Order: sequence, then C-alpha cells, then structure tokens
Amino acid sequence: MTDALHFINGEFTSGKSGQNFDNFNPATGEKIGVVHEALKPEVDAAVAAARAALKGPWGKMSMVARTDLLHAVADEINNRFDDFLEAEILDTGKPRGLASHIDIPRGAANFKVFADTVKNVPTESFMLDTPDATGALNYAVRKPKGVIAVISPWNLPLLLMTWKVGPALACGNTVVVKPSEETPLTTTLLGEVMNKVGMPAGVFNVVHGFGPDSAGAFLTEHPDVDAITFTGETRTGEIITRAAAKGLRQVSMECGGKNAGIVFADCDMEKAIEGSLRSAFANCGQVCLGTERIYVERPIFDEFVARMKEGAESLKLGNPNDPETNMGPLISKEHEEKVLSYMALAEEEGATVVTGGGKAEMPAEFAGGCWVRPTIWTGLPENARVIREEIFGPVCHITPFDTEDEAVRLANDTDYGLATAIWTENLSRAHRVAAQIDVGIAWVNSWFLRDLRTAFGGSKQSGIGREGGVHGLEFYSELKNICVKL
Ligand code: NAD
Repeated sequence: MTDALHFINGEFTSGKSGQNFDNFNPATGEKIGVVHEALKPEVDAAVAAARAALKGPWGKMSMVARTDLLHAVADEINNRFDDFLEAEILDTGKPRGLASHIDIPRGAANFKVFADTVKNVPTESFMLDTPDATGALNYAVRKPKGVIAVISPWNLPLLLMTWKVGPALACGNTVVVKPSEETPLTTTLLGEVMNKVGMPAGVFNVVHGFGPDSAGAFLTEHPDVDAITFTGETRTGEIITRAAAKGLRQVSMECGGKNAGIVFADCDMEKAIEGSLRSAFANCGQVCLGTERIYVERPIFDEFVARMKEGAESLKLGNPNDPETNMGPLISKEHEEKVLSYMALAEEEGATVVTGGGKAEMPAEFAGGCWVRPTIWTGLPENARVIREEIFGPVCHITPFDTEDEAVRLANDTDYGLATAIWTENLSRAHRVAAQIDVGIAWVNSWFLRDLRTAFGGSKQSGIGREGGVHGLEFYSELKNICVKL
C-alpha cells in the first residue's frame, strides 16, 4: 500500500483533518492506498510555510545557487527514475513505454530548462532625457511574485505539475501544490527529492484533496496566495478565476480543448495516419492537445477512415508493464462513465461507428479496470454534442471537406482554441492554414512535438496567458522598474 501524505514545511504529515479517501489503480481497479485530505488547517499551514520560506535562506539565495539546486532536483528525479515510473503507472495505468519516454524525463527536464532560462533572460533599460539635462536611467529587475498555488490535473501528473513548479521556483517563488485527487503519488515523491537535495523547508509544499470544499478551494481562495497557476477543465478554470478575483490575484489558465486535425489530399498519408492515431489515442485520448475532430479532404476520406480504423484496431490494451502495450485505461470509473455516455450519445445523435464504441473486453486481471475501446465515428453534423464538447477519451470523429476555406471554418467553429495538427506537403498551404486557425499551438506534419522554449497556452476558452520559455516569466515574476535620476 502506498499512502499519499501532505508535504508541509519539509515534513510529511497526514494532517489533522482525519479525513482520507482511497486511491485506485485504474488498470486493475485495485486499491493502491489512501490519500490524506487537506482541509483549511492543512492548507493554512502549507501557505504559511511557503510565505515564511520566502524570507528564509531561499529568499536570500543567489540565482546561481538556486538554479543549481533545481538542476539537482532534476538529477535526483532521474536517479529515482524507476520510483517515479512505478508511482505514475500505479496512479494512471499508462503504458510503461509512454511514461518512461514522456512523463518522467519531461518531469525532470522542466527543472533544468526553466533554471537555465531564468539565468539567461535580460531585462530592459532606458535612458530618459530630463529638463536639467542630467538624465535618468530606468532599468527593470525581476522579483519573485511570492507564494504560488499550483493546481494540476491527472492526465500527465508529474510532467504538468513540474511544468509549473520548475519556472515558479526558478523565479524564486515558493509553491503550494494541489495535485489531482486521482494521481497524488509522484507529487508526493517529489517532496522526498526536495529534502534529499537540500531544498529549504517550505519552498515546495503539497496538499492533497479534492476541489470544491476541499484542498483545491481552500488553497485558491487563500488570501495569502499571490498567484494561481492551473491546468484542468475550463469550467474549473472559471471557478478558480472567480476565487482569484478577490485580492486581484493573477491567474495562468491552461484549460480544455476540442482540437481539430486537418488532413489535405496532398499530405503524406503515412505521416498523417501515424500522427492522427497518436493524437486521438495516445494516453487513452487523455491529452489536452489531442485531436477529437479530424477533417479530411474528400478525395482521400475513405482511405483515411479505413486506415485509421485499421490503426485503432491494432492498438494493444493491457498490462502497462508489457512493452507491447500501447494503450492504457481511462483514469477512473467516474471518467469511464463520462466517456461511455458520450459513446452512447454519438449513436443517439446518428453517428456511424467505424470502430470501437463501449467497454473493452479485458482478461480477468484487468477486468476491474477502466478500459474502453478506441473509437472512431463518422457522419455526425457539426452541431452534434459529440463534435462540440470535450470528451477527453480515445475517440475521434472524422468529417470530409472540399475546400481549404471550408476546412479552416470547420476547425475554428469551436469555443476552444488550444491546438491543431495540419497535414499537407504543400508548404504555402501549411503556412497559410496554420496562420488562420485560432489556437495557441499549430503543428504542421507533426503532433505533440514540444520545444520547452516556446510559448504554450490556449486562446478562447482554452486558457489565459502563455507559459514556457521566457513567456512564463511574465506570470512567475514581477517586473519592477527602477528609475535613477542622474
Ligand atoms: P479538473 O478541472 O477536474 O481538475 C484539475 C484540478 O483542479 C484537480 O487538481 C482538481 O482537484 C482541481 N479542482 C477541481 N475543482 C476545483 C475547485 N473548485 N477549486 C480548486 N481546484 C479545483 O481537470 P482534470 O479532469 O483533472 O483534467 C482534465 C482537463 O484538463 C481536461 O479538460 C483537459 O483538456 C485539461 N488539460 C489542459 C491542459 C492544457 O495545457 N491546456 C493540459 C492537460 C489537461
């Protein structure tokens, strides 16, 4: 059994709430352990520890010492790679190949990349003419914002949490993290890493629990939190933004998507199929950047659908530790119910089920898990709920189109604006179409290729602000101008 404790002021604690809940392995349905729930007293203690740490050794540490410490955090995650891998697989059931190539290495890299970014970004200066002709010098310095609340989701638990904790600490802030209630283990493990490398107490704190009336709400409503960075559903983002309005605290919102793939007849079919299969089914479709709507130019529509069907049917669901497995379960029974309800709705709305639909038959060992079949639909009108609402499962709907303008219009006909993937070998078209899709990230002939130096975020209801590279500094630090009369 692996229980998840809070990590407050450098110490693991079950807290005083006396409340806890069970954590399940979604691959098997078995109980992994319990998660201790933080209520107001635990959140107060974590925020107080984070506030105090700003005034302690952390606040006085040189930038070089601070960023060296973050490199040590990354190295220690890599030293304990297998522990992180096991914990992530237990919590999510995701295939070992995926977690070992993406979740854990990127989880470690987030500390190095942002430590290096912070060291290398200049600030501006201006000479100002004054009436007495002596002039004034303006220069800007970056200061940490203070105590940052980090609210993270379950789909890429370590990766998406460190994506925020890395730059927050690199900028000299302290953090209180509330990981998803579904995936508490790797965030807890990071507490051990922090102690091992000598991170001062209170710099990194973890409180576990749910959102409403629990750790998430107590943390985001806490008046001594200076800013809130959130990844999760758009509706949750709205609630947190309302909480942040009190005290005018800044938010960074990375929210939902209903991303479109656009496949032109002049694409390289091999690449388009490989990328579209990954974008629809990787991580069991539980990727914010994933593609749930694919628009395909009519001359290649039938071939594309047939090859997607073949690809989906060749995915191997099962034991996460089997190297052959390339699709895991959904995260929970609750999420499985949601995805299954959309599968039923698609049929009610009149979809043709090309493949999948419904639960997957699994061997006895995994029968209690949250397994659904990779699913492809065609034939729905654009106003169908299945085409408009984020499902966040291994599903996609494929629609034919006739002209480039039509493809752009269809891709943009959504409340969301996170990502798109465009497949064409025509260079001019690639640039032309990428420029017209209202999203934070547009891929051409690829998907999920991420350079951590680039801006990341969503437009429309997919988010507020950009993180990544130097862009996160706008959120994680306060730019102060100093004006010196000469
Ligand atoms: P979620 O919104 O249900 O939960 C996210 C986090 O918010 C969890 O830690 C949860 O406990 C917490 N939370 C819930 N209600 C809260 C409240 N009232 N106050 C404070 N905290 C609260 O999202 P999820 O189901 O964990 O994740 C899936 C969603 O995340 C999808 O919509 C997906 O698109 C989105 N996502 C977006 C990105 C991105 O970068 N844009 C990345 C990954 C996931």
